[in-house]
Amino acid sequence: SKFVYFFGKDVTDGKSSMKDLLGGKGANLAEMANLGVPVPPGFTITTEVCVLYLNEKKYPEEVLSQVEEAIDKLEALNGKKLGDPEDPLLVSVRSGARVSMPGMMDTVLNLGLTDKSVIGLANKVNDERFAYDCYRRFIAMFGDVVLGVEFRKFDSLIGDKKKELGAKSDTELDSKALKELAERFKEVIKLEKGFEFPQDPKVQLQMAVDAVFDSWNNQRAITYRKLNNIGDGWGTAVNVQTMVYGNRGNTSGTGVAFTRNPSTGEKKFFGEYLINAQGEDVVAGIRTPDYIDTLGNKIPEAYAQLVDICQKLESHFKDMQDIEFTIQEGKLYMLQTRTGKRTAAAAVKIATDMVEEGLIDKETAVNRVNAEHIDLLLHPRIDPEAKLEIIATGLPASPGAAVGKVVFTAEAAEEMAEIGEKTILVRTETSPEDIGGMAAAQGVLTVRGGMTSHAAVVGRGMGKPCVVGCGEISIDIKSSLFMVNGFTIKEHDYITIDGSIGSVILGKTDLIDAEINEDLKKLLIWADEIRTLGVRTNADNPADAALARELGAEGIGLCRTEHMFFGEDRIPAVREMIMSEDEKARKKALKKLLPMQKEDFLGIFRSMEGLPVTIRLLDPPLHEFLPDKEELDEKLRELETSGDCGKIEDVKKVIQRVVSLKELNPMLGHRGCRLGITYPEIYNMQVRAIMEAACELTAEGLKVIPEIMIPLVGLVKELSLTKEEVCKTAETVMTEKGMKIDYKVGTMIELPRATIVADQIAREADFFSFGTNDLTQTTFGFSRDDVSKFVPIYQKAGILEHDPFAVLDQEGVGELMKIGIQKGRSVKPKLKMGICGEHGGEPRSITFAHGIGIDYVSCSPYRVPIARLVAAQSTM
Ligand code: ADP
Ligand code: MG
Ligand code: MG
Repeated sequence: SKFVYFFGKDVTDGKSSMKDLLGGKGANLAEMANLGVPVPPGFTITTEVCVLYLNEKKYPEEVLSQVEEAIDKLEALNGKKLGDPEDPLLVSVRSGARVSMPGMMDTVLNLGLTDKSVIGLANKVNDERFAYDCYRRFIAMFGDVVLGVEFRKFDSLIGDKKKELGAKSDTELDSKALKELAERFKEVIKLEKGFEFPQDPKVQLQMAVDAVFDSWNNQRAITYRKLNNIGDGWGTAVNVQTMVYGNRGNTSGTGVAFTRNPSTGEKKFFGEYLINAQGEDVVAGIRTPDYIDTLGNKIPEAYAQLVDICQKLESHFKDMQDIEFTIQEGKLYMLQTRTGKRTAAAAVKIATDMVEEGLIDKETAVNRVNAEHIDLLLHPRIDPEAKLEIIATGLPASPGAAVGKVVFTAEAAEEMAEIGEKTILVRTETSPEDIGGMAAAQGVLTVRGGMTSHAAVVGRGMGKPCVVGCGEISIDIKSSLFMVNGFTIKEHDYITIDGSIGSVILGKTDLIDAEINEDLKKLLIWADEIRTLGVRTNADNPADAALARELGAEGIGLCRTEHMFFGEDRIPAVREMIMSEDEKARKKALKKLLPMQKEDFLGIFRSMEGLPVTIRLLDPPLHEFLPDKEELDEKLRELETSGDCGKIEDVKKVIQRVVSLKELNPMLGHRGCRLGITYPEIYNMQVRAIMEAACELTAEGLKVIPEIMIPLVGLVKELSLTKEEVCKTAETVMTEKGMKIDYKVGTMIELPRATIVADQIAREADFFSFGTNDLTQTTFGFSRDDVSKFVPIYQKAGILEHDPFAVLDQEGVGELMKIGIQKGRSVKPKLKMGICGEHGGEPRSITFAHGIGIDYVSCSPYRVPIARLVAAQSTM
């Protein structure tokens, strides 16, 4: 089989659709070559070889011979040979997995240089400085990436050299200095490794290829894969590519660019470059790069060609591209193109713009934005009214505002996150080792680096607010503080960063929720056109209902009436109702509640005018409304010392009631329809409130669609009995008001038994709503309020992948839902089915709901836009 794929003008084997085999970088290098874009020739060793090598610790014969052949071909094509002492062929060795893993596996440049061939190179191009610049870079990179000698060791030698010569930048180091550095670097390697720096290019190449494959299993790569759901078994490809040189003087350079602004999405070429530089100088923050616009003044022809190629690539790939290029003595070479990472705001803008430009269709646009993007857009930003003490400004690398306590190491950020503390990770610059800490922090602030630095790229990918290149800051690690413009900020002091404008702000700042902009509105309307799953909201007050409606909710799927009982003005009446010794007293108390409850429904119905409102009758155990026993005991003691006898009796009564209502397992106790059956007058009052409100608004000419929902039904008779009562009250109210209202009576399906006898229940129900919170609780037998004690342990031990209260358990709970749906619809084929509960706003659960034939999901207002998008994506 074929293990090695060649690329270059007219000799390309691969194409961009072969990413699984060639990795993203290799496949796109091939595609660019196919498109006639100037790409230095080379070859890709496939991801299959990586997997074979990692399993067997050696290569099949076939691989070795195919690599030999590819090298011969590359030598012939370039008219140069590896290791030729007169005119050596140099190559880069580059990793590239299926999806780009920024910074995970490092590249080795200028491979093929030796003590002999470096002289040949110098003579050939008549530039000794250049040759030794390449050599010292190669030795350091090889030492770092392949041999595992800390890069710092080389870096500090460069620093010493610069100091010695009074040079500000690497470019000021002359040929002699670079030659000396190369010698010193080799000594470092000898010292650290106990062997000489290899002088045979074939050996160099083999070692580099091995190192790339091995790096698939380094800790940084594993962490990144875990964070990004990348399969451990995919492997990486290796690309061996002819070197081109950006470090050959002032008409040479190297850079990175995006075809559109990755922060805002604006359709404007965006990037940075450095003249007379090589490889990752741009992103490493060694020198501060220039904005791409100015390249046109310096190397106009190459710049024009670059702009042209970028346009070509974007229309070919039909998405924003992130490209890497090098210019060698005025001639442009493309070294990489890939789909550019972008912020949430940019994702939405680019997707909608590209539809307008006719580049992609609406379905594609809807698919290009994901749930996390929307989540981020709905994330907080700094309150414009807030008074800010801006202490520094850096580059706005990844938008959004974040508040947290300052930490200086990734480990500290992770530790703080574990105890629920919010942090801002402050670093000189970030490196791949910091990824875990970046994920754990609220935001990232760096002293060095540009818009394409590691922190910036990773921050945008994670959607983490990020300010980079804030050079005014000086970090004093020893004293755990940083100083900036006269301020001293200690570890664990609060700061705020605004990644949209680059500001660093003293202290905690008020953040406010973001609004949905026009582009996002447009995109969500397209999503609405595509989706078949309905999206409702969980809301129990008019303000939330109105907000949700604005965010696109098509009704209320769950209005929890008990929340209304907790209002300060209500709780005395609720307690009076609970304290009542007989039905008569209870009814009297309920009469007080009736107008308040009715007021609630008037407001909610108004907010949801014309849309269905599902109201769940009282669900929780009554003791939840009574004060705490300890509190009462305390009060009793106080009263006894003050001798207030009248009140003492009252408190004693309450204590008695609290004691009598106490249950061992309240979640499985006297709650839900069990309450309604025990105290029918409670549900009667609620239904009266609902129907009176509905009648009054209908009389005003509003359209009201009440859906009354009975909780915690497991036996069909629970439903039939309760429903009979509900209907009786509803009819009475309608007769009193002389009106007819279309109302429904349905049930929650939230007990395993209910799913199993769903056919019986369906005969009595106008609709089902799966209460997945309780259904998860009762299916697993996991108490929702106690899971934090063991679910994290289960997750660590691999017993559970997700917390089932966050992500619906499709295998167990989902299977019961399928049974419920199938049985319910066997009796009433058109029976409406919804999901309320946290899962209604969780992307994987939404897709599952769509797949099993649920009619709508119901979620909290801010999840509504996410549900609309994911519902649309679920159809594709
Ligand atoms: P990463 O995956 O970290 O981006 P790359 O393999 O893209 O690593 O290499 C990093 C940089 O090294 C490239 O952006 C480019 O500047 C430089 N580089 C890689 N191969 C070559 C080459 N053949 N000639 C010149 N520069 C190269
Ligand atoms: Mg890199
Ligand atoms: Mg790259």
